[in-house]
Amino acid sequence: MAQLIDVCPFCGVNHTHISHHLLTFFVVCQHCNSSGPRHRNADGAIKDWNSLSQVHKKAQFLTEQTERMQTLLGRLYQIESDVWQIVHDSSN
Ligand SMILES: [Zn+2]
Repeated sequence: MAQLIDVCPFCGVNHTHISHHLLTFFVVCQHCNSSGPRHRNADGAIKDWNSLSQVHKKAQFLTEQTERMQTLLGRLYQIESDVWQIVHDSSN
């Protein structure tokens, strides 16, 4: 069964190929030379590489969402500070 190989989880470039050494197969990125887990057959090597890529995409998504939440939290703190300043100014 032919499978598509996902982009490299380490550099994001879609320039990979399947390599083999002794009795193992693994995906290699020709851009950054990263290699995936070794497997007894090419399909297994691609499947493991793609799993690695999916985990990386999820981690990247969570990192982006965390940064976005931190930005929003910073704005919220600023609004809270502004409101307290208005309340303070109006009571004097
Ligand atoms: Zn790469």
